[in-house]
Amino acid sequence: MGNKTASAGSAARSLADAKPVSFWLDSPGAPGALPALSERVTADLAVIGGGFTGLWTALLAKERDPGADVVLLEAKTVGHAASGRNGGFCSASLTHGFGNGLERFGDEMPALERLGDENLAGIADTIARYQIDCDFQPTGELSIATAGWQLDGAWDEVAQARALGYEAELLDADGIRAELNSSAFIGGIRTTNRNAMVDPARLAWGLRRACLEAGVRIYENCPVRSVASQGPGLTLTAGYGEVRAARAALGTGAFTPPLLRRVGNWVVPVWDYVLMTEPLTAPQLASLGWTHRRGASDRGNQFHYFRLTADNRILWGGYDAVYYNGGRRTDEYATSPATHLKLAQHFLATFPQLEGVRFSHAWGGVIDTCSRFSAFFGTAHRGRLAYAAGYTGLGVGATRFGAQVILDLLSGDQTERTALTMVRSKPVPFPPEPLRSAVIQATRASIARADRNEGRRDLWLRTLDRLGLGFDS
Ligand SMILES: Cc1cc2nc3c(=O)[nH]c(=O)nc-3n(C[C@H](O)[C@H](O)[C@H](O)COP(=O)(O)OP(=O)(O)OC[C@H]3O[C@@H](n4cnc5c(N)ncnc54)[C@H](O)[C@@H]3O)c2cc1C
Repeated sequence: MGNKTASAGSAARSLADAKPVSFWLDSPGAPGALPALSERVTADLAVIGGGFTGLWTALLAKERDPGADVVLLEAKTVGHAASGRNGGFCSASLTHGFGNGLERFGDEMPALERLGDENLAGIADTIARYQIDCDFQPTGELSIATAGWQLDGAWDEVAQARALGYEAELLDADGIRAELNSSAFIGGIRTTNRNAMVDPARLAWGLRRACLEAGVRIYENCPVRSVASQGPGLTLTAGYGEVRAARAALGTGAFTPPLLRRVGNWVVPVWDYVLMTEPLTAPQLASLGWTHRRGASDRGNQFHYFRLTADNRILWGGYDAVYYNGGRRTDEYATSPATHLKLAQHFLATFPQLEGVRFSHAWGGVIDTCSRFSAFFGTAHRGRLAYAAGYTGLGVGATRFGAQVILDLLSGDQTERTALTMVRSKPVPFPPEPLRSAVIQATRASIARADRNEGRRDLWLRTLDRLGLGFDS
């Protein structure tokens, strides 16, 4: 970032009226809650969780077999968690970026990129078919350097990206500032395909409507408390009732461990925080020159992501990825004044021409982080339950792929997806607490130090790199 010294006073003032809720969820378009389950029902498939993973699983199950009897059980309301609180970058990448994918899945990447591209096309097709009004815009994206070291290896990165089908280009300072004007930006990579911007809550609510129209029975404010094998199927206790289902799908993200403890070895809840400005005035918007409206992020290890909304606000999030010792997931962490202040200061330092702009919303959400930064999959209850988790901050698009994998696993069909190493392998587990907290906090401190130190990774990070381990949001 250029001028890191934007005053704390003006940052604090810019936040004074910010509502502590997700801008996307704070919308007149939010549907009223559906009743909780209050009886004993049967189903072919019970889907647990009404985020993108659960919604896609339910909808695709009905598309695969319109006669299937599908119920979806959501602990609160559809889309209230990560799926309604994110940046709305809908990427084709299934692997948290192709660089991470190449490191972990090597030879499989051409297939994973093709499947990811098809997945993004499938999302666009669903949005069109069901007429989901969610501002889906295939803008591509900008990866922006704010310090020289962040461009080390950028030529190679562009060459690798092109080989995998990305329309990518290296830009110098003038080139990047012509895309988005900040004197803090010194170069970057522009990619014009494989990413769309979306209003995530309206996508979730549109998928909810599509599910209901397809005949999925959705119960809200209806947490599933237990899942047990019974005879040839499963019994779920939920809300004030019970579901007897032949199969179940778990799409509960960072909240999965209470229902399936083994997943707690591989995912940790990491909190990520976001600001949204008021709508910009025409002169403010013109001062940015953000004509192509591409989603953007900067290239530090601790990075910000930023984008425009349909009504010309700026969403600005990321940087601190916070693990609270012990891994608690309580709602009290959904706001963090310290991180929101830091984000506001960074925003004003990046765009000093926007001094005086105020933030209307400041919120946080919990990310299901795993040590390989990309989803993993599995089954339990003798193959009658399947799950997908661990998207680590890039699940808006990849959750649809995860839903396809869940349905493949439940059907027992061998598909191109189930043959993938990515699907058959698991991330390296996190150690148990209290060592887990110590390891994660040491890693966070080292990552912050690397950013202050021209990207130089200390012995701890180099050791983790060698082991293929990491921590990210
Ligand atoms: C601040 C933030 C910014 C992000 N930005 C981006 C981005 O720009 N692009 C991107 O690709 N990804 C982003 N992500 C990640 C992305 O939002 C997630 O990967 C994705 O939404 C995960 O969807 P999910 O359905 O698996 O989980 P969730 O959306 O968390 O849904 C899980 C659901 O399960 C429900 N549930 C939990 N337990 C139970 C139970 N016992 N019974 C019934 N229901 C239960 C929960 O209430 C919840 O609704 C971001 C995440 C956050 C938090």
